[in-house]
Amino acid sequence: MAVILRIDVDSPYGKKNFINHIFSRLTSDLNLPPILIFPYLEYLNDFINYLNNRDIQGYFFFRKCTLPAIETLNLLKKGKHIIGLHLENSRSFETFKNEVDIIKSHTKSKVEVFSKHGSGKYKYGLHHYSLYEPEKYLEWGSKLGMKIFLGNLEDPTIPFYYTNNNMLFFPTAFWLEYSWRNIMLFDINWLIQESKNRNIVLLIHVENVLYNKLFLNEFETIIQNTKIRII
Ligand SMILES: [Zn+2]
Repeated sequence: MAVILRIDVDSPYGKKNFINHIFSRLTSDLNLPPILIFPYLEYLNDFINYLNNRDIQGYFFFRKCTLPAIETLNLLKKGKHIIGLHLENSRSFETFKNEVDIIKSHTKSKVEVFSKHGSGKYKYGLHHYSLYEPEKYLEWGSKLGMKIFLGNLEDPTIPFYYTNNNMLFFPTAFWLEYSWRNIMLFDINWLIQESKNRNIVLLIHVENVLYNKLFLNEFETIIQNTKIRII
């Protein structure tokens, strides 16, 4: 039993400083090509190197505006990570398939895992369809032969299961950042214990974790005390 590491790549430039944050948002809203004077996905490359140096594999979910450039793809390949879709426009099966196809043709590999962008409440960016409707995604995913959907609920006690169409569904995650977790009930020691008995998803947003001492310390404690693996 293990921790499944889910990395939602929301931000093209990270949030290290204000300018990066603004450009991340503009790139997402306007479908801008990567602006080369800013270090596109540099924060993510730093983090993949960090994982690769520790021989830890994770699932990386990309949006249309955070598609990995060649350097990132090479690092992901080197570390044997899995690439998936971070679904943004979930308005219909067609918009879903369109995003799957974009990731497929960009990475030149099959895409069998996906996660959904947003909390279900707020609209993040122009192309974001904010409703969270996992039953639809499970049906659409199985139509396209996908294998795993990682859901957005915040109660980490909810177990995973296989749907009738044989999709593996984790309805919930243990969110490392505090905004989406009851930290009084579920601290990292809880996660460490729980992962001994079952597979459990740890969700992180690298731009919030890599430059935050508290979260990075907690992440290090988790990787030192659990098995992190691909399933
Ligand atoms: Zn997201």
